Amino acid sequence: MNARPAKNIDSATIVGHFINGADVADSNRPEAITDPATGEVTRHVAMASKQTVEDAVAAAETAFPAWRNTPPAKRARIMFRFKQLLEEHADEIVAAITNEHGKVLDDAMGEFIRGVEVVEYACGIPELLKGEFSKNVGPKIDSWSEFQPLGVVAGITPFNFPAMVPMWMYPVAIACGNTFVLKPSEKDPSAPMLAARLLKEAGLPDGVFNLVNGDKEAVDTLLHDKRVQAVSFVGSTPIAEYIYTTGTANGKRVQALGGAKNHAIVMPDADIDNAVSALMGAAYGSCGERCMAISVAVCVGDDTADTVVSKFRDEIADLKVGNGTDTSNDMGPLVTKAHHDKVRAYVDLGVEEGADLVIDGRGLSVDGHEDGFFLGPCLFDNVTEDMRIYQEEIFGPVLCVVRAESEEHAMRLIDEHEYGNGTCIFTRDGEAARYFADNIKVGMVGINVPLPVPVAYHSFGGWKRSLFGDLYAYGPDSVRFYTRRKTITQRWPSGGVREKAQYTFPSNS
Ligand code: NAD
Repeated sequence: MNARPAKNIDSATIVGHFINGADVADSNRPEAITDPATGEVTRHVAMASKQTVEDAVAAAETAFPAWRNTPPAKRARIMFRFKQLLEEHADEIVAAITNEHGKVLDDAMGEFIRGVEVVEYACGIPELLKGEFSKNVGPKIDSWSEFQPLGVVAGITPFNFPAMVPMWMYPVAIACGNTFVLKPSEKDPSAPMLAARLLKEAGLPDGVFNLVNGDKEAVDTLLHDKRVQAVSFVGSTPIAEYIYTTGTANGKRVQALGGAKNHAIVMPDADIDNAVSALMGAAYGSCGERCMAISVAVCVGDDTADTVVSKFRDEIADLKVGNGTDTSNDMGPLVTKAHHDKVRAYVDLGVEEGADLVIDGRGLSVDGHEDGFFLGPCLFDNVTEDMRIYQEEIFGPVLCVVRAESEEHAMRLIDEHEYGNGTCIFTRDGEAARYFADNIKVGMVGINVPLPVPVAYHSFGGWKRSLFGDLYAYGPDSVRFYTRRKTITQRWPSGGVREKAQYTFPSNS
């Protein structure tokens, strides 16, 4: 399997793939993985060739017939065992997230637990797969609908939730009777790899779950392989759109979740102290690298904006930035040097565009971590609609304050924005909150809740260019996404009675 070792790289430290129930070593086009807190290269990850991905798809296709016919209760039992194993290995997985992504350990544990909750949901698959039955739809005729698995399905995931986002996909897909090929982010591949081995330990038959590391070559192979029936994608909007158009053009079912620019409205009557605390976590938690992060605070009225900005100054002064492994820190580094430079360039751009940089995180240096990819929290005031820092997703610790005249004005800004992932409103006025929730053109809405990420038994998805496709991730929508409805109509005629041909369309007339 593509064993052209890279120069000066110890092949034992190259993360390979997991295919047909076994680790597969590979040293094809190794990419460096860095510890973002120190800037040190800690290991490499192989970029799967077309052949390697096709091997994974072949393993998944071979495993499908037996897995599809395995009773759902037995599939659920494997999910129960998988959940137990995940919990036993939680610290190891969470440490891998922090070492490769950079987020602080508590935050990594938070994403891990939200992922495990989807496994818990998948444990209920016998109930979730129950079909629909109608007796006597016609004379002595019964009819039922059942939900059959699709076959081989693929998942392609982003760097920012290396454990949770893959778990949005494969637990339910597998529990429904599909087989799976995961292509996680090449920036932090270790957490999903650890989970892959635990699936095997939980008793999952070989080939039901496969993992290939890689880049565009691996993704394009999955998108063009006729054996792959469906693709779930989470990542940035340009790639989500590409995945959706290419996958659907190739006849696949596709759900592709994209980027975001989530606005929070702060109304004049809000509990401003609590709104600012909530926004601190939502804007700067995980260094702003969350698709549900709040990146725009729309303050209604200048008095509200002045108070919010002044309270942010105080709160930001207390925010501790450093290595995510130090549990006293609130915020870690950005994921890579390239991403750090991109976010920093957006801060430079905001200054050029004329926004007021109230808090400038660009000068931050963390003692003993001078080569880490740290950027301190940044706060812009007087940001306007025409600025690129308002229009584009920055995906870093940069919060833009926009001043609006009224709730309607604030809502118009949100509705006219390209993205529609999450939003929230801070207010004490139930009528204003209800009007907002009812009318805003966004998929996930919080009322005094800054990160309204649905729990595992609801479903996650945005509107507008934050989601391409019709069905959301995890929860009830995922059971529909990973199954195909079949409706069977059945009749057992009485033996020996000759029946006349009927040329009218069958009805209960
Ligand atoms: P990304 O789009 O760069 O990468 C996502 C996946 O696509 C990775 O596995 C990557 O290897 C692959 N990929 C990258 N470029 C590709 C190409 N040209 N062709 C084919 N495949 C390609 O995203 P990222 O930087 O890893 O993650 C951050 C983005 O993900 C942000 O935009 C964030 O908003 C978004 N995100 C969205 C959600 C959501 O639920 N809507 C959740 C998490 C992250």
